Amino acid sequence: MYWQMYYRFIWLVILSTFFSVVVSRPIQAASNPGPVLRKYGGPKWGFYAHQQINRLAVFTLPAEMIPFFKKHIQYLTDNAVNPDKRRYAVVGEAPRHFIDLDAYPDTLATTLPRFYKDAAERYGADTLALHGLVPWQIQLTKYQLTEAFRKQNVRQILRVAADLGHYIADANVPLHTTRNYNGQLTGQHGIHGFWESRLPELFSKEYDFLTGPAEYIQSPQRVAWRAVFRANAALDSVLRIEQELTNETGDTRKFGFDERNGTTLKVYARDFSQRYHDRLSGQVERQMRASVKMVGDFWFTCWVDAGQPDMAKLAKRELAAEDDQAEAEEKKSWLKRLFLARDEN
Ligand SMILES: [Zn+2]
Repeated sequence: MYWQMYYRFIWLVILSTFFSVVVSRPIQAASNPGPVLRKYGGPKWGFYAHQQINRLAVFTLPAEMIPFFKKHIQYLTDNAVNPDKRRYAVVGEAPRHFIDLDAYPDTLATTLPRFYKDAAERYGADTLALHGLVPWQIQLTKYQLTEAFRKQNVRQILRVAADLGHYIADANVPLHTTRNYNGQLTGQHGIHGFWESRLPELFSKEYDFLTGPAEYIQSPQRVAWRAVFRANAALDSVLRIEQELTNETGDTRKFGFDERNGTTLKVYARDFSQRYHDRLSGQVERQMRASVKMVGDFWFTCWVDAGQPDMAKLAKRELAAEDDQAEAEEKKSWLKRLFLARDEN
């Protein structure tokens, strides 16, 4: 019975993903102001991929959670990129999206403390902030979401669930685990947006997002770290394959031009993208699917840890209009700061 429902949902997802891909371009263009896109080049895990990951994670949830999460699926999708939008407006936001594992050469994999308190004691909070916090941020946000479920605070559940989805997705991106996050140390400037924005935008329509239903996570910290280390293990091919292809192709055929919002952008050429994507042998798809599964698992785990509050009841509550207004104002202020901030790509 449960599986039947699950498959029905998956088909819904496949169809809705297909249609959103087909019809979403003008909508995206309308909601992304031109200057921000130009300045931002390729946004983190692309806005598109982040939105898809939060959206698809909803369909991994058990029947008890579905009424609430389906009702608010648009909110979770639209707000999947809040943490990126507030990077320059909120103090302390920027380091939550990554971890430079190579900044800790002698302690990689084995001895880097898994809990924030221990790590801060060993290295100091400033050092941790400098090299990124994402695995600890996932643990913290997991705690916050559990609290929101416990309080049965609809607005807070949605806000924190959207954020948690974002941080988890970031942790699964290989280039979010290194100091060389944009290929700037190896003459591959732009590879960040290429891998996490351009490739999913071009190819994720073909991806298989069947993940199986959400599962309870015994140790959130272990799962967060495992994701980061797995992403890091893929980093070598991300950089090496791009370099090999560049050597074969030459710079002139590597790039092309794309029209967006009436602006001409220099982008990685379609043919180059296709060849890179082929040689990565499903890597972007695997990382995206791992993100979807992990987001579902975390949302589910928070709900269980909060004592499984009645989500059908919560689904009946409406969001207060004045809170909507306040949230819209808040986002406007992030965007203003984002526009003024320096370009990272
Ligand atoms: Zn991010």
